[in-house]
Amino acid sequence: MLIIYSLIILLAFSVFSVIMLNNYKNTQVRNTEIRLFQTANVVAETYKGNREQMIFTRMMVRNYAMQANARILIIDSQGEVLIDNFNDYIGTKIDNEEIRSSLKGNSSSNLYKLENKEVLQLSVPIILNESGTDKIIGAVLLSYDMKKINDSVSELRKDVIKVGSLGLLLSLLLTILATHNLTKPLKDLTVGVDKISKGELGYVIERKTRDEFGRLVDTFNRMSSTLSKIEKNRKNYINTISHELKTPLTSIKVLIESLSIGDWHIDKYKEYLQDIYGEAERMERLVNFLMESIKLEERVFNIKEEDISQILEDTIKLILPYANQNKVHVKYTADKNIIVKCDRDRVKEMVFNLLDNAIKYRDPNKERSFVNISLKKENNRALLTVEDNGIGIDEANIKNIFNRGFRVLEGQFHGNIEGYGIGLTVVKKIVDQHGWSIYVKSTLNKGSIFKVEIPL
Ligand code: ADP
Repeated sequence: MLIIYSLIILLAFSVFSVIMLNNYKNTQVRNTEIRLFQTANVVAETYKGNREQMIFTRMMVRNYAMQANARILIIDSQGEVLIDNFNDYIGTKIDNEEIRSSLKGNSSSNLYKLENKEVLQLSVPIILNESGTDKIIGAVLLSYDMKKINDSVSELRKDVIKVGSLGLLLSLLLTILATHNLTKPLKDLTVGVDKISKGELGYVIERKTRDEFGRLVDTFNRMSSTLSKIEKNRKNYINTISHELKTPLTSIKVLIESLSIGDWHIDKYKEYLQDIYGEAERMERLVNFLMESIKLEERVFNIKEEDISQILEDTIKLILPYANQNKVHVKYTADKNIIVKCDRDRVKEMVFNLLDNAIKYRDPNKERSFVNISLKKENNRALLTVEDNGIGIDEANIKNIFNRGFRVLEGQFHGNIEGYGIGLTVVKKIVDQHGWSIYVKSTLNKGSIFKVEIPL
């Protein structure tokens, strides 16, 4: 990964440097060309006016050559050198592309490589206007050694390489840092997922950033904590069930053992058998609960338009003997004719569980126990409320009561309050599958309110 990043950076930088250096050299050459053409034209003009004064013209050429840092030749129309600021070519004939072109009246320039030297050569014609007609009487040829320009380009190249290497090093460092920052949270997540897959539920990853990775880490941690809670509940549930099964089994064993020793009166046998029957019934109820719990996942709902107040009344009738038996007063108020799409039997089961709990968790220390059930139509929703003045639930436990197998009094043993922590799980499941919502408000020793919100 890092190698690819480095190669990309290096390639981009090289292309950029080559383009930049070429542009720089071209601009330098063009500027020099303009400057030299100006000099050549000035020389041509001066020569034209002072042809008779050769000494002055030579001095002038030498001056211009020095200023322009170039070699200047003045050539006549036959190609013979008349003036050379170095005096080497005077009297010789020169024939090249530039001169030929200038003797035809054009200005031209070109770059040449002469013995490892780069030379810019340009020429302009010397045109004399005699009685209205132009006559080419010669040309000015200028040779400029490109060394100065090439030196400045190579200086620039050195600087670019220096700055570029520094930049490259810096960007590599940044890339290393960025890749590390990118891959580190991914590595942490991989470790986390690996831990979860090995059963270390509840494993938490430290959140180091506030970006997308940070949010992913939060989601992971939430998932891990939920999985851990589910696992804890499952263990709790199995623990409760095993305990609840063990108690009647031990009783049955002891009762049978007692009966098998000694010669008992028939009444004793009957009494003990009655007890064994009671324990077997307890176990049967527990097994039914277990089966109910498993069936919960597989139920198919039978949704129809139903009058919900009718369902409520039917359920209350069912539970009333249990309430009377335990001296719990049941009060019921309902708006009539609220038609809701639902599964009648499931809703009955949901209400039954809520009422069963409200009676089961009554407070024996209170003089009067009650359960108030109400059904109200409000705008576009119906609100079903089950309120009791029972033992209540403390705040820390409220968030767990809908979890399978959770019982507030777990471990303290409920005495005669039987249950397996499944009633409210069923209630929640039914509420969810209808797309409704359930809310709980409860205060320890005061009572509880369960509200089911049904959109109409
Ligand atoms: P259980 O079979 O134990 O009643 P539930 O799922 O119905 O299981 O309820 C879970 C726990 O929530 C109960 O063990 C009880 O502690 C608490 N609970 C439920 N309803 C009430 C209520 N109306 N008043 C007080 N506690 C309640």
